[in-house]
Amino acid sequence: MDDFLSQPGPRKAVPQKPLQIAILGTGMGGLCMAAQLRRAGIDSFVMIEKEAEIGGTWRDNIYPGSGCDVPSHLYSFSFEPKTDWSRKFALQPEILDYMKHVTRKYGLRPFIRFNTEVEEARFDETAGLWRLRTKAGEEITANVVVSGTGQLNRPFYPNFPGIETFAGKAFHSARWDNSVDLSGKNVAVIGNGASAIQFVPEIAPKAKTLTIFQRSANWIVPKSDRPYTPSEQKWFARFPWLVKLHRLQIYLMLELNYLAFIKGSFFGKLFEKAAVNTMEEHVKDAELRRKLTPDYPAGCKRILLSNDWFPTMARKNVAVETSHIAKITPDGIVTEDGVSHPADVIIYSTGFEATHLLAPMKIVGRGNLDLNTVWAHGAEAHRGVAVAGFPNFFMLYGPNTNLGHNSIIFMIECQVNYIMQCLNALRSPKVRTIDVKKAAEDEFNRDLQADMQKTVWAAGCSSWYKTAEGKVTNNWSSFTMKYWWQMRYPDFAEYNLGG
Ligand code: NAP
Repeated sequence: MDDFLSQPGPRKAVPQKPLQIAILGTGMGGLCMAAQLRRAGIDSFVMIEKEAEIGGTWRDNIYPGSGCDVPSHLYSFSFEPKTDWSRKFALQPEILDYMKHVTRKYGLRPFIRFNTEVEEARFDETAGLWRLRTKAGEEITANVVVSGTGQLNRPFYPNFPGIETFAGKAFHSARWDNSVDLSGKNVAVIGNGASAIQFVPEIAPKAKTLTIFQRSANWIVPKSDRPYTPSEQKWFARFPWLVKLHRLQIYLMLELNYLAFIKGSFFGKLFEKAAVNTMEEHVKDAELRRKLTPDYPAGCKRILLSNDWFPTMARKNVAVETSHIAKITPDGIVTEDGVSHPADVIIYSTGFEATHLLAPMKIVGRGNLDLNTVWAHGAEAHRGVAVAGFPNFFMLYGPNTNLGHNSIIFMIECQVNYIMQCLNALRSPKVRTIDVKKAAEDEFNRDLQADMQKTVWAAGCSSWYKTAEGKVTNNWSSFTMKYWWQMRYPDFAEYNLGG
């Protein structure tokens, strides 16, 4: 091992041999990685994007009211603050504009290959290279692959009997069809999660009737949203430290929210109380309140923020149906109680295929090891970024790095910082591959899953945070500060460094 690698603690870059890096995806993760490479003066990378534009989830989720439930001053990169966010919780167009600004400012467009979908990534042990095969049959080689494909990019459609027979219009909320006019229509919305609570209040006033097919109720608390005043924006622009301070204040407030995710915690009860109070204020019908009250602890599924969900539920043209869906017919939906619900339009707001991370890509590491096989019982990784047997392969927003309480951008920045240091190791002439040791990965995951047991995610409710067998594969188990501490720099003793 050379001096660089044997030094304890953070290491300074040793600019040596060049590396070709392939970044998959141009969402928040991919853009962060690419911008940091550019900031470090590294230009030997390509970004591969299956669509024709950047933005990931913020390009795809264009439904009415789409926005982020994390305050924008924290849902943006620490190295690229924006002083003129229009409001505390920005909507999708402003977030996408911010991402386009980052792309422009760091000159990323020339590095992006749009309309290019990677079907397979295979590690060539002899050459010490990743060979990426695209859908068009082209091969792209790289020393290092950084996947930024996210956890929420493939819409999930339930397999209801008769789904294909529906004669009206049907689409998924993550593939919103703007050509469908909802005015005066009977609209059926399947699902009531984070996306539905944003678009239902927007479309309900237009629809003739709107029926929400709810499988489980959600904990929904008020959103402390408001526009920033022009003078606040002016102060932020004049004194950049004020933006930092504001960001820190938001971070610390959200970090505290983690306490609500500990089983049986007092903070969790506070969220429940806030949700019940809001519901009682807006929903006068006791039967409707019963339907809208969850039967599991707050936080087990994502706690949702909204000021207009409960008023919308109380509208005369809105109904909540809790009998499960039995089948779809040409005219609408039939529930298990035998009732037919006529519909002109069905909107599937049924979430994403979140636990099958990286699918449908085939990732093949050393000795023909297929990542799908390794993850057959649920995805896991070392510190969310690396998997044993898959050298020089890193993930952003990988297994167990999703949050219920704070900004995912913070987690992504921790990961990019860590990966940048691994890249420095790979630039040493003596190191060609970096591959996490299985024992280190297993120990990390044993600790993480033990930690997870104290959280509400491990409680009885089902959510996209966990597999059908009940393993929590998506969420980080603790405060983000703990993650930041672990990700300050890699411990190369946890890795096999190959020459
Ligand atoms: P989601 O929260 O997973 O909600 C999916 C909904 O579909 C749930 O209500 C679920 O019911 C229902 N569902 C799934 N399968 C069903 C079936 N077979 N029959 C009936 N109902 C079914 O999905 P989402 O609303 O798209 O949000 C996903 C994630 O995206 C969020 O958790 C969040 O991380 C992210 N997101 C974030 C924001 C933001 O503001 N930051 C906004 C939107 C989305 P059950 O609850 O019973 O499973």
